[in-house]
Amino acid sequence: MKIWQIAVLEGDGVGREVMPVCLELLNAVANKVGTFQFQFKHLEAGADLFQRTGEAFPDATFQEAKSADAILLGAMGIPEVRYPDGREIAPQLDLRERLGLFAGLRPIRSVQGVPEVLSHPLASKIDFVIIRESTEGLFAARNSGENNSNDVAKDSLVITRAACERLFHYAFRLARKRSRRGYPGKVTCVDKANVLSSYAFFRKIFKEIAEEYPDVKADYCYIDAMALNLVKIPWEFDVLVAENMFGDILSDLGAALIGGMGMAPSGDIGENHAVFQPCHGTAPDIIGKGMANPVAMLRSAAMMVEWLGEKAGIPEAHQASRFIQLGIDKAFEGGELLPYELGGTAGTREIFDAIMEQLEESKDVSDRSSRNGVFCS
Ligand code: ATP
Repeated sequence: MKIWQIAVLEGDGVGREVMPVCLELLNAVANKVGTFQFQFKHLEAGADLFQRTGEAFPDATFQEAKSADAILLGAMGIPEVRYPDGREIAPQLDLRERLGLFAGLRPIRSVQGVPEVLSHPLASKIDFVIIRESTEGLFAARNSGENNSNDVAKDSLVITRAACERLFHYAFRLARKRSRRGYPGKVTCVDKANVLSSYAFFRKIFKEIAEEYPDVKADYCYIDAMALNLVKIPWEFDVLVAENMFGDILSDLGAALIGGMGMAPSGDIGENHAVFQPCHGTAPDIIGKGMANPVAMLRSAAMMVEWLGEKAGIPEAHQASRFIQLGIDKAFEGGELLPYELGGTAGTREIFDAIMEQLEESKDVSDRSSRNGVFCS
C-alpha cells in the first residue's frame, strides 16, 4: 500500500474552514480506491502565526513541508496584518519561489448545474487551463522594490530565459497531452510584447519553443485583448501561458467565469515539489460564517491526487481524482445546490455533504467525459 505524506498548511481565514472537509474527502476517496493512503502532517504558517510569534513561516516548517510528497494549502493573509512597508503576509509566495514551483496551473472548467455567469450557450463548455509563471515576472520585485521617498516607487519585472523555457515546454507538453483527450491542442501566449521589452523577450522565447511542438498550435494575445476575449469567447481557449502578474489577474477573471472564487482550484508545480490550493484568498468578509464554498479546495485536492499518481505511476490515483471531480459535477447537476457566492444558501458543510453522497454512490468513473482531469502533467 502506497502511503503519501501530505503537508497540510491550513493558514488563515476560510483556509481553516475548507481544509478539514478536504482531508475528510481525501481519506474517503483513498478508502474507496484502496491502493493508497494519505498521512497528513499539520503545519502552522500565515498571518495569524505572524501576529502571535513575529514569524510567518519558520524555516523548520518550510523544511517539513519540503520533505512531504505534496503540500496542501488553504489560504494565507489577513488584510490588517502586514509587514511595516504595507505588504501582506504571504508564505504561499515564498513556497513558490523557494521550491521552484514555476507552473501555476489554474484549470477553469464549468460545472454543469452551476449557473453560468455568461448567458451564451457555449458558456457551459468553458474548459481551459491558465499557466501562470510563478517564480519571477513582476512578483520578483516583491522583496526588492524601491519605496523610500514620498515621490516615487519602483518595481522591476524580471523575465529569464531559463524560467521561460521550462514554462513553455510545460505548456506545450500539457496541450499535447490534452489534445489526446479531445482538447484543441493550442497554447496561447499572453503578454504585452507591443509595449515592454521584457514581454517581447517572453514572446520571442515562446516562439522558439513552439517550433519544437509542430503538432500543437501556437497562438498569441496581448493581455488587454485577452481580458476582452475571456469574457467574449472563453470557450475558444485551451492552454494559456502568462507572466506571473498577468496570470494572477486572469485567474480571478477565469474563476468568475465558472461561478466565483470558491469554484477555482490551483496547483503550483515544480520539478520535484508541488503545492495545491484554492485560487481564492482568506475571504475576510465571510470568515466564521460557514459560507465558504469548499469546491475550489476539493478540486485542488483532485489535482494533487492526479499529480501524485502520475509521478508515482499509480493509475488508481487518476481514478481517485476522477471520483472527486465527478462527485462535484453530480452534486451540482440538478441546479439545486447553490453556493452563497452565487446567491444561494449552500455553505461549506451542505456542499461537502452533497459531494460525499455522490462519491459514496458512484461506482464507475469511466462513463463520463474523457476530457475530465488533464491538468497536471
Ligand atoms: P488574495 O489576494 O489573498 O488571493 P483576494 O483579495 O483575491 O485574496 P479573496 O479572499 O479570494 O480575495 O476574496 C474575494 C471574494 O471572493 C470575497 O468576496 C470572498 O468572500 C469571495 N470568496 C473567496 N473565497 C470564497 C469561497 N471559498 N467561497 C465563497 N466565496 C469566496
